[in-house]
Amino acid sequence: MDFSVGDTFSSYTELEEKLKSFQSTNYTQLWKRDSRTIATACKRKPNRHFNTDIKFYELRYSCVHGGRKHTSKSEGQRPHQSTFRADCPFQLKLRYSDDGRRLVITKYVSEHNHEISKQLYNLLPAQRRLDHSDKDRAAEKLKVRANRKMVCQQFSEATGKTLFMKDIHNIGTAAKPKPSTEVSELQQIADYLKSQPGLSTEYLIDKNNSLAGIFILDASMQHTFSQFPELILADATHKINELRMPFYLMTTVDGIGEAEIIASFIVISEEEHMAHQMIQLFKTKNPKWIDIRVILTDKDMVERTVFTEEIPNANLQICLYHVLRTFKREITTEKMGITGGQKTTILGDHSEVGIFKI
Ligand SMILES: [Zn+2]
Repeated sequence: MDFSVGDTFSSYTELEEKLKSFQSTNYTQLWKRDSRTIATACKRKPNRHFNTDIKFYELRYSCVHGGRKHTSKSEGQRPHQSTFRADCPFQLKLRYSDDGRRLVITKYVSEHNHEISKQLYNLLPAQRRLDHSDKDRAAEKLKVRANRKMVCQQFSEATGKTLFMKDIHNIGTAAKPKPSTEVSELQQIADYLKSQPGLSTEYLIDKNNSLAGIFILDASMQHTFSQFPELILADATHKINELRMPFYLMTTVDGIGEAEIIASFIVISEEEHMAHQMIQLFKTKNPKWIDIRVILTDKDMVERTVFTEEIPNANLQICLYHVLRTFKREITTEKMGITGGQKTTILGDHSEVGIFKI
């Protein structure tokens, strides 16, 4: 489709639709360079009657690669940042018709001074922009820390738009709650937990009177522990939240060999006194702690020290998986100065367990 001088439009909406299809079929991105609304015109010429559907009594469009430098009149806007200007002569001018009912094309320059292609057009930001629902869906994925490259690929394929990594990055930044400090993030978690029925939560407050940790358990966890208090497993994970606050999970093993959660806590730092306070909380909530016989942890020194001091009757063990993994990592021909055959002999016994296949 194309435009000609003298073409008329009965409403601004009609013009917008035509412009939309013109842009996508001609691979030309336009921008509204100048406009005057009929509201202003009515003030100046109170006796004239305009069709309000046309909205503007004068309009000027340029190609995104052309037009005089646009200076924003409104305050607080960023300085003009476009990098597309290249004095392209393309121009489309419209004005109200004499009867004030329509918009008429008064000037049309259809030439460009640059290459026009579908590929270049699709690379322009306006074409890369995702619509609201896609943007929300992408933001959701980024919130749960989905791989950005995959999100970029997935949405490029699904929408047919050429998305750049920076587009995905911008969506992620826009979706992030602000301001996001460690403490406020912890506060958000605390607020969420408070709204959950049946959960019993305890809060650690540091000397500056801000929230430093949350201890979480419920009645069924307490019950499970009271039934199976002999063996507990504890581990921390650091990758569960953006700020890497360690999240500790304590489990027991029930009568059918399944792990059952008995408590969890999150702290803003791994300092020893934090873990101490958490284990003390666990003890107050679970009088059967004196029945704990074995505690299984990884080789984390802080955890081990705290458990030894807080639950002195229990036997502290390192889990087999971590022990064997360390063996596998440390017993190499280079580190030990041994031959390949010797290495196989040393590790051979354990391979029967099948753990070295991990
Ligand atoms: Zn142009």
